[in-house]
Amino acid sequence: MATDRPFEELNLWQRIFLENWDKFAADYRQEHGESAPAHWQENVERMLSCGDIREGYYEYYCQDCGAMKKVGFTCKSRLCLRCFKVTVDEWLNQAKKVLFEGVVHRQVVLTVPKVIRPLILADEDFLKVYMDAGAKAVKELVEEWRRKKKIRVGIMAVLQLHGRAGNQNPHLHFVVSEGGIDKDKTWREVNYFDTKKLRKKWQYHVITALRKAIMGTEYETEWHGKLGSMFRQYPTGFDCDCMPESGPVERLVVYLCKYVSSPPISIRRIEGYDGQNVTYRYEDHLKGPMTETISAVEFIGRMIRHLPPKGFRMVRYYGIYARPIREKIHALVAGALKALVKRAEAMVQYFVKKLGRSSDTPASVDGADRSGSKVTEQFSKGPLRCPECGSVKMLLVRIWSKEAGMIYDIVKDGKNLVSGLGSLPMTKTENGGQTCCQMALAI
Ligand SMILES: [Zn+2]
Ligand SMILES: [Zn+2]
Repeated sequence: MATDRPFEELNLWQRIFLENWDKFAADYRQEHGESAPAHWQENVERMLSCGDIREGYYEYYCQDCGAMKKVGFTCKSRLCLRCFKVTVDEWLNQAKKVLFEGVVHRQVVLTVPKVIRPLILADEDFLKVYMDAGAKAVKELVEEWRRKKKIRVGIMAVLQLHGRAGNQNPHLHFVVSEGGIDKDKTWREVNYFDTKKLRKKWQYHVITALRKAIMGTEYETEWHGKLGSMFRQYPTGFDCDCMPESGPVERLVVYLCKYVSSPPISIRRIEGYDGQNVTYRYEDHLKGPMTETISAVEFIGRMIRHLPPKGFRMVRYYGIYARPIREKIHALVAGALKALVKRAEAMVQYFVKKLGRSSDTPASVDGADRSGSKVTEQFSKGPLRCPECGSVKMLLVRIWSKEAGMIYDIVKDGKNLVSGLGSLPMTKTENGGQTCCQMALAI
């Protein structure tokens, strides 16, 4: 793949893709008899031109010293080590709105045997089936626990496509409320997660749903029998892990969102690239820190396979957290939730005192911090600063894009409210100010 960007501008991650993408694409074509998915190529192209002002930029004017600064458009590709954080932030904000405050949550991890993984990854419909089946199993487990009460819990489901080494391992992380609404619309605590039962339920639902999903597809012949044989081969069901959460749920949610939306490794983990081979580090949860050297083409393969299908929702909500239900439920049990928050606060205070530590946990239970400043802080970039004087009083004066030309120009658009701007060189404007405002908001 070709780019005119100066070499020193490209970081190591980008360079690996730039120098080896064509070979990767050719190998892929040869091996699979078809081109690599179009959204892969599109993501690579976007990632390579991320921040390149020749593609488009926002121009700012320092209201203190008059210096100008251009900031290139970001690519918002999940493959981009700079941009994936945007998605993380969006997910975190969403999760904060949905997850009931004061309620303890439990993490449930669901996996399937290696042999079925390629099928699940073969089609995005199967990925959705996979997520839905997991939610069904958990919901059913709780509902059957107190049959007459029919308790419904809330679930935030996160699909992860890869393991720590970058290997393909689609698995599900569920954040499940340890409480729910019964049929009389009363809040009930739930502390029942019978792993033995859940294993069987998970196996049953995922196998049944996949068998239904492959009906009439090219996968039916190969997989119908194979899937059926899983009941015999795994008589105790599929692996489930139900871990009670000791810490605040925010920490878990941050971890999950970061993990799911980022490329499988971070740039810091690349130890070397000699134009041919890449050496990188990762954590193996059994063996500890590992270092591996593989060809750059193979490296690209490992990293790119984890791009979710275009538009696919990797984070979904089920049960009382599902969109149509959650608002209604929230209003219904507001009183009960308030009491839970109070109790959680008291508990945190108790432990803080007992351990004699300064409290860093109340963020999770303190209503005032619900906006999540603490959580998002570590991801936000901080304000734009003037390169000359360090001032943060930077005013957006122009937006230019390669396709659309000068979209916005503060002088041309008659918004010359700031003294000194009149002396800015005039530039051609092709669009009105309204578009620019919308665009500025979208930054
Ligand atoms: Zn300045
Ligand atoms: Zn980017």
